[in-house]
Amino acid sequence: MTHDLDAIVVGAGPNGLAAAVTLARAGLSVRVYERAATAGGGTATRELTLPGFHHDVCSAVHPLAFESRFFREFDLRARVPFHTPDVSFAHPLDGGRAGIAYRDLARTVDGLGADGAAYGRLLQPLVDRATRVAAFTGAPLLRVPDDPATAVLFGIRSLEQGSPLWNARFRDEVAPALLTGVSAHTILAQPGLAAAGAGLALTTYAHARGWPIPVGGSQAIADALVDDLRAHGGELVTDHEVASLRDLPPARAVLLDVTPRALVAMAGERMPSAYRRALERFRYGPGVAKVDFALSEPVPWQHPELRRAGVVHVGGTRAEIAAAENAVQAGAHPDSPYVLVAQQSLFDAGRAPAGRHTLWTYTHVPAGSEVDQAPAVIAQIERFAPGFRDVVLATASSTAADVARHHPNYPGGDISAGVPSIPQMLRRPVLAREPWRTPLPGVYLASASTPPGPGVHGLAGWFAARSALRHEFGTGILPALSPRG
Ligand SMILES: Cc1cc2nc3c(=O)[nH]c(=O)nc-3n(C[C@H](O)[C@H](O)[C@H](O)COP(=O)(O)OP(=O)(O)OC[C@H]3O[C@@H](n4cnc5c(N)ncnc54)[C@H](O)[C@@H]3O)c2cc1C
Repeated sequence: MTHDLDAIVVGAGPNGLAAAVTLARAGLSVRVYERAATAGGGTATRELTLPGFHHDVCSAVHPLAFESRFFREFDLRARVPFHTPDVSFAHPLDGGRAGIAYRDLARTVDGLGADGAAYGRLLQPLVDRATRVAAFTGAPLLRVPDDPATAVLFGIRSLEQGSPLWNARFRDEVAPALLTGVSAHTILAQPGLAAAGAGLALTTYAHARGWPIPVGGSQAIADALVDDLRAHGGELVTDHEVASLRDLPPARAVLLDVTPRALVAMAGERMPSAYRRALERFRYGPGVAKVDFALSEPVPWQHPELRRAGVVHVGGTRAEIAAAENAVQAGAHPDSPYVLVAQQSLFDAGRAPAGRHTLWTYTHVPAGSEVDQAPAVIAQIERFAPGFRDVVLATASSTAADVARHHPNYPGGDISAGVPSIPQMLRRPVLAREPWRTPLPGVYLASASTPPGPGVHGLAGWFAARSALRHEFGTGILPALSPRG
């Protein structure tokens, strides 16, 4: 069969675009099909509330933009300007108290009183080797680690913070709350090994290079990838949903930035039944409900240092957040939910008209929930920022069901595209040395449902492209990705 195209990529999320850029840079002809009107997937920015207020539709804050090996090779920092707040994240508690995670670990330790030294001993060895922690967590879990010492150091700390002994090193409530605010990003039961591992990795980056915010919004990351794709001859076709592999023009390789569930539907009868059964066993988790705000002024947090934080974790103590997250796992909407808040416009003035602000929030809910979480989110922020209601100009609320409707890769609103538990990080979506490669000739999975899992890092797409280059195009040579390469 003759092929007009070398490779087709379905889906222009960060992973699909990373795959497309890598293949185009290798000198191959590449076409990307995207169902939405614009590229970006989970890296999109739009006016969701009022004119002139630019909201991140999905991802907002990008620790992995600095840590991902793909983005380092691509030299994202040379292509997209970022603001990196001095306060990576903060965590208010009742009574006007708060934990403040400065980028500077020593300053964080100073602010944590009796628990400062214990927090420092937990984090300092990881921060000292942040790049190696990122290399360990940014690769398939099923492998012999390149750097066993880092794996052991990281593993022991994750075991401790992921076990019922997680409070053993602490005396006060603030440091444990800080850590749980981050591990709760995973939408997993608390305490737990996978949640603790992801939380410690993100906390490490918070104290190493920080949690950056792209100028103009997350869309800037997608735009940089699309620009590079086009500069190397790649094509992007938007408003084009691919329902079946049969609908694609002939190509030597097809890389799919979709979920395993979508792959089953797209392959139909062509899929070997054992592989189909394995994909059907892949589990999706609880969802998120997102609430964006246009504000007349910044959030009136009780603790003044919170006005300098890129991210605020709202939900109270470690025990309260664990109870809320475990309730979500059990299928309930907690009365006092955990809320993730990002305050991009404090650092990036162009996100809102002069003097005004945007606020990005989401909370965890059972899969497919149709419950509008705006009242619960507002009440929880008001708890630590009395008067918040009075600064809200407009609200845009998406239920988990809405998130799933707009983003096919997040079934039920599961923004991880599959539960990121240890078993599912080992078999993501199947137990294999190269889980991106499917038994369908030339077909690869290249989404967050493959290693290394969720987040804006492009690594899943990059690994899938490397696998396709090796097996379909007979080359183990990786193309240079930097703007100068
Ligand atoms: C509310 C929310 C907040 C988040 N916050 C953060 C954050 O702050 N930091 C962070 O790092 N990560 C965050 N994430 C997670 C992050 O956005 C995802 O992990 C990441 O975008 C996954 O990239 P992907 O390329 O695998 O999938 P996606 O980004 O979902 O891209 C998939 C693309 O494929 C397209 N597509 C799917 N099926 C088809 C088809 N059949 N035909 C054509 N096109 C198709 C979709 O339209 C989409 O554009 C968040 C996600 C959400 C939803």
